[in-house]
Amino acid sequence: MNLVLFGPPGAGKGTQAKRLVADRGYIQLSTGDMLRAARKSGSALGKQVAAIIDRGDLVSDEIVIGLIEEQLDLHKDAPGFIFDGFPRNIAQAEALDTLLSGRGVQVDCVIRLVVDDVALLARIAQRFEEQGREDDNPESFKVRLGAYNKQTAPLLPFYDGKKLLKEVNGMNDIDTVAGAVALVLDLD
Ligand code: AMP
Repeated sequence: MNLVLFGPPGAGKGTQAKRLVADRGYIQLSTGDMLRAARKSGSALGKQVAAIIDRGDLVSDEIVIGLIEEQLDLHKDAPGFIFDGFPRNIAQAEALDTLLSGRGVQVDCVIRLVVDDVALLARIAQRFEEQGREDDNPESFKVRLGAYNKQTAPLLPFYDGKKLLKEVNGMNDIDTVAGAVALVLDLD
């Protein structure tokens, strides 16, 4: 099972991905987590992307596609992958198709977590208080939401055209959303 968890920042992709890792043994591939880890390690890549991430802009396709490719090769026997925060534009989605088809598999399902902008703002403001993630500050969040609407949202018709897109109400509590995601996967 290769699942794309789709939605704007704050929709709950990371939270639901972690549930699927625990429940089904899938591997979570979060490009945001990978980039934050690179930053923390002080690597050249981390230094290269730090300012871009803090601003709320997207890093280059080349970088994130490379990170995903590396992970696919590291986990050859995985029962499934959850792509979390990737792809974020059409070029990345096409690259993902190529990477997967080269390994004899494909994207099987795309689940969009639907959350309204008011709730997103409230969630991100709370996360900023709790975790102090620099790109959760109100200015950067505005840029991130803008990047989602302009560059990432066009993936909805892209995946709908391939009959892969499913929607789950992401406004509910974590357990209810996890139940709805599980139902979609079990019916798929
Ligand atoms: P996230 O944790 O998914 O919200 O990602 C945090 C930040 O990492 C984003 O605002 C981007 O700067 C960068 N990032 C993560 N994933 C991608 C991606 N697929 N393409 C470009 N930039 C990304």
